[in-house]
Amino acid sequence: MLQIDNFINGSFKAASSGRRFDKRSPVDNKIIASIAEASAADVDEAVKAARAALHGEWGSMSQETRVGLLYEVADEITRRFDDFVAAEMEDTGQPEHVMKHVFIPRGAANFKVFADVIKNVPTESFMTDTPDGRGALNYGLRVPKGVIGVISPWNAPFLLMTWKVGPALACGNTVLVKPSEETPFTAALLGEVMNKVGIPAGVYNVLNGFGPNSAGEFITSHPGVDAITFTGETRTGSAIMKAASEGTRDVSFEMGGKNAGIVFADADFDAAVDGIFRSAFLNTGQVCLGTERVYVERPIFDKFVTALKAKAESVKFGRPTDAGVNYGPLISREHQNKVLSYYNKAVEEGATVVTGGGVPQMEGELAEGNFVQPTIWTGLPETAAVVKEEIFGPCCHISPFDTEEEVVAKANDTEYGLSTTIWTTNLNRAHRVTARIDVGISWVNSWFLRDLRTAFGGTKQSGIGREGGVHSLEFYTELRNVCIKL
Ligand code: NAD
Repeated sequence: MLQIDNFINGSFKAASSGRRFDKRSPVDNKIIASIAEASAADVDEAVKAARAALHGEWGSMSQETRVGLLYEVADEITRRFDDFVAAEMEDTGQPEHVMKHVFIPRGAANFKVFADVIKNVPTESFMTDTPDGRGALNYGLRVPKGVIGVISPWNAPFLLMTWKVGPALACGNTVLVKPSEETPFTAALLGEVMNKVGIPAGVYNVLNGFGPNSAGEFITSHPGVDAITFTGETRTGSAIMKAASEGTRDVSFEMGGKNAGIVFADADFDAAVDGIFRSAFLNTGQVCLGTERVYVERPIFDKFVTALKAKAESVKFGRPTDAGVNYGPLISREHQNKVLSYYNKAVEEGATVVTGGGVPQMEGELAEGNFVQPTIWTGLPETAAVVKEEIFGPCCHISPFDTEEEVVAKANDTEYGLSTTIWTTNLNRAHRVTARIDVGISWVNSWFLRDLRTAFGGTKQSGIGREGGVHSLEFYTELRNVCIKL
């Protein structure tokens, strides 16, 4: 069986405590790997290595050499593309085409994009008048923040982890990465890539384990970690924020969502159905930007529900490598139970189940997998739990609306503020409505179309701070002002 160890100071190592945990396949729940669970002593060793790298070769390396190395990291990921695709597929059970076309290429791109950003972004400079008439020159210097703790989730493991590691390293920091306990494979593979291309030891470290009383907490509460970037559930963000308050360390948080999709009657109907289908059901609904609340203007409501139902019923479940399969399982039995409990709750709350609501009939070993049916509900009030709470599964509630005023109020009636997707051919309306919806990312006639130079993040309980493009530099560097009296 595959053994995955921690990656500390450039070497793969078993846990100093000897502890390991099992990794199960989402498609059949068989144990497929044994993972070393990092102890507090392992985290401490990694922090010391990361600090030493900052004061050593990595810290004194020219920017040109550093960004050149990050380009090589991206190229080496591309050379080992098939290994990364296979690892991520085994870890998540998600279909090959998503891995090949989105998750792995975007992971590689994260190293190039931020290497380019750091090379090209200027800092400010001011000439200051002084009483002696000679003046002073002020200029900004961007310096690395230090040792960064990177805590990442399981839903797009490689993309979301490199989204943080790419800019952190481009800015000259060192990192301690804690991948989700559910998906440790690609973070380990990236360790091999780092060594292959000559990233100095201690710059990239991977500590596997869980949250509380395990690697997650050991990293976030370690005084030698200068800042923490986290993607995951809002509840976990609160726990991490408490840990970060010791030593008043900086945080960047990308958290949960309960995103609204809005379809106006003037939308390109087929494009809107395709778009909402993707936003509600891609990655088995395990996308933070996904749409679990859909609002459709009344004249096209029935037609829209029928069309989305037909698409939801056309998915083909199975192993990611099996021919024709385009739909994977949920990540774990625990998550399957959570999603199914919401499926039951919807019925208790009086929903009309348009489609789904249970587990698909699977043959042989796959009957043990974490599969659930894509599910659509109608008929619930806005106060229903499945309309209010993030489920993070392949499901959505669809309700009709009559006016712009009404749909904006409904879209905003949530504690979250991550994203929205709006479908209309009326450009005035598109501008008007996006301006009024309180989210970090608004898509019009599209969804999940990302330019990595743009700001990414959420309002309200969906996040703190923005990452992406120059915005990542705000978190991953300190801006030092130098004032020279002339
Ligand atoms: P999670 O919060 O359970 O876990 C995320 C990570 O935090 C894991 O590595 C976990 O081990 C670690 N962790 C848990 N408790 C911890 C603690 N006390 N201290 C330190 N680390 C701890 O989230 P998940 O279930 O892995 O991911 C799903 C969630 O992530 C959803 O809520 C989803 O919306 C959110 N998400 C948000 C974005 C975004 O960009 N806003 C992107 C993807 C996922």
